[in-house]
Amino acid sequence: MAFKPANNIQDLQYFGEFGGVNPSISDSSTYTFLSAKTMFDTFEGNADGCYLYSRHSSPSNLYLGEALAAMEGTETANVSASGMGAITPALLQLCGAGDHIVSSRTIYGGTYAFLKNFTPRFNIKTSFVDITNLEIVEAAITKNTKVLYCESVSNPLLEVADIKGLAAIAKKHQLKLIVDNTFSPLSISPVKLGADVVIHSLTKFINGSSDTVGGVVCGTQEFINDLRNVNNGASMLLGSTMDSLRAASVLKNLRTLHIRMQQHSKNGLFLAEKFEADGLKTVYPGLKSHPSHELFKSMMNTQYGFGGMLTIDVGSIEKANELMELMQNRNLGYLAVSLGFYKTLFSAPGTSTSSEIPLDEQKAMGLSDGLIRFSIGLDDDIERTYSMMNACMKELSIL
Ligand SMILES: *Cc1c(COP(=O)(O)O)cnc(C)c1O
Repeated sequence: MAFKPANNIQDLQYFGEFGGVNPSISDSSTYTFLSAKTMFDTFEGNADGCYLYSRHSSPSNLYLGEALAAMEGTETANVSASGMGAITPALLQLCGAGDHIVSSRTIYGGTYAFLKNFTPRFNIKTSFVDITNLEIVEAAITKNTKVLYCESVSNPLLEVADIKGLAAIAKKHQLKLIVDNTFSPLSISPVKLGADVVIHSLTKFINGSSDTVGGVVCGTQEFINDLRNVNNGASMLLGSTMDSLRAASVLKNLRTLHIRMQQHSKNGLFLAEKFEADGLKTVYPGLKSHPSHELFKSMMNTQYGFGGMLTIDVGSIEKANELMELMQNRNLGYLAVSLGFYKTLFSAPGTSTSSEIPLDEQKAMGLSDGLIRFSIGLDDDIERTYSMMNACMKELSIL
């Protein structure tokens, strides 16, 4: 039977304390023990099912974590207060002074800044490479390399990582392959393709309502236990714990993710095809013109589509700004960073989300001034949206 990650979420069953159809929300930071011995065992990590303190784990966070692990096909998962609160401990758990990371150069600006500016303080060095070129990736590996890091679909350029190819390289050199799957939940299942650890910013598609930040690390029981270890676990000690109330809220939103992703993808493909036919430089993994279209197809869980992210290039930052302001005035979306909302969001990545990346490096990787990144919304009438966007472009002489 075909692997359907959304079914795996559907198959979970957690009742509330009084038979509620939703699990009860844990409203406690600390937990009582009937015996002192059990408290000691829990501290030592030897008392399954016992809760000690909510920075370590809480029932609500475990429910959400288990649902995300089911979606990604991992043994378990650890949720966190933000996507960065998942990425940074995962990397610091695997790397110490003297270690080396090989990372895609087109990654989320915050992750890039962490690897470029912050981890060198701990003598952790990173080589940034073109992740679509497996020879270059392998050539960057040194005897100190511990981690291969990429995004399945990269931010903001929508480059697609060959996860199977990268997994083979990771295995050969005994590295951990970490994949940030924020842009392609459900569509791509990195663990099925050989990744060791999958990370999401829950802030985006998974929560989908732009009302919180959140993150998750999905991996083996051993790795998640390491992250949570009270003595040396990076998640436990750095402390970016998600609040239980929020975990319960994200879990409820997660249940509609498959329906939302299908609509984001349907609308994304429709607009990308129209924009390209209009002569705009359009990047969308679902277009045949995308350099990794076939690769994406070979990796995807078909029913969820190519996702909701696309970029167009309108030539200059001035034109990009004018267009975004006009589209916002016509209520076609919001001029805002982030993604995965019911409403279309657009921003110019060079000047906003990737501003941490120096200008000459942005140029080298194809981040042009006139680039607009769209997170396509759940619009019910996408043909109307398209004709209104088309009118905006004509008005501004972009078309
Ligand atoms: C937003 C984002 C992050 C960071 O997540 P936060 O929840 O904002 O901390 C990491 N990776 C990608 C691909 C993102 O889009």
